[in-house]
Amino acid sequence: MINTIIYSYELSNMEFKPNHPFKPIRSKILMELLNRYDLLNHKNQMVVEPLPLKEELLYLFHERKYIELLRRASKGEFSIDIFYAGIGTEDNPIFESMYEFSILAAGGTFQGAEILLSGTSRVVFNPIGGFHHAGKGHAEGFCYINDIAITITDLIQKGHRVACIDIDAHHGNGVQDAFYDTDKVLTISLHESGETLYPGGGFETELGKGKGEGYNVNIPLLNDTDDDVYVYAFDSIVPPLIERYKPDFVVAVIGSDTHKDDPLTHMKLTTNGYKKVIATINDISPKILALGAGGYNIYKTTAMWALAWATFCGLTPTDLFAGVIGGFMYGPEAGAGTLDDPPFSSPPEEKKRCLDHANRVVSFLKERLSL
Ligand SMILES: [Zn+2]
Repeated sequence: MINTIIYSYELSNMEFKPNHPFKPIRSKILMELLNRYDLLNHKNQMVVEPLPLKEELLYLFHERKYIELLRRASKGEFSIDIFYAGIGTEDNPIFESMYEFSILAAGGTFQGAEILLSGTSRVVFNPIGGFHHAGKGHAEGFCYINDIAITITDLIQKGHRVACIDIDAHHGNGVQDAFYDTDKVLTISLHESGETLYPGGGFETELGKGKGEGYNVNIPLLNDTDDDVYVYAFDSIVPPLIERYKPDFVVAVIGSDTHKDDPLTHMKLTTNGYKKVIATINDISPKILALGAGGYNIYKTTAMWALAWATFCGLTPTDLFAGVIGGFMYGPEAGAGTLDDPPFSSPPEEKKRCLDHANRVVSFLKERLSL
């Protein structure tokens, strides 16, 4: 079975603003890393260029009025209702071709699902996908178009069972809101607690409503949560939930901003914990639509994505350039020869605080979800 990566040179060269932390260039660096570590060009792999999402498909989730405001802002217009829709803020600036950027990124995710539906691939990875904060009528958290909500809505309308596993450091609030009252999608989000990180919610008590009760699962973890505690919380809840729900497709939002060197969050993961969780997602999911989402240390993010891709493809990274270019292109911390970090544990007192909290969340969820 083929594994497909979605890549657009055009998209990778777009920029929100020079100092904005969200860098589409990450996808280009990822492709370079995949080449360097012999993770691309294998015969069961494909690289597909995304096409812009057709306008009609935006309305599977978004309001027409909002899309109109986004298009107007993209052309350089500004009005107070554009600002009220969350466009033109520090997080979601107005930049040239922002509409084109958004529909190309979302197009990649939608196309990824179509490729999975066609039966040719088991895994599709769209690094510049996973805009889990966008609401139906507003932008927030670097997200303008919610490619996840659009694509999942289409899949469930076609009668498929879908689960979304979101391991980005931020709570997937836009996806939670989109499917809060339905049992047609199982949404699971592991993230840094809303007490210390945007968007401020995503507590374990938010379990869905009406028919959706029990189908929205949040696993908030404390700042300083390290690999051990994270993997423990993930393994306690996610595999049994997926086993019970039996999805046809898993949308995996694999943001790597949980890394201890990420400048925007306070989690303390390394590649080691991330890899374990990716390996489990790979094992429990029949078909995977992986989306890159957040990650603001460019070098760590691309290394973690490369490791995720290697896991999905069953490959071991081998540095073909070891000793040749060193850290020149990928930053000094990437070094030559490995994508992996050395093991790391939070200091004992911090670790205990994180583990106690994780234990409370896990026990609460096990009881409420009858796991
Ligand atoms: Zn994030």
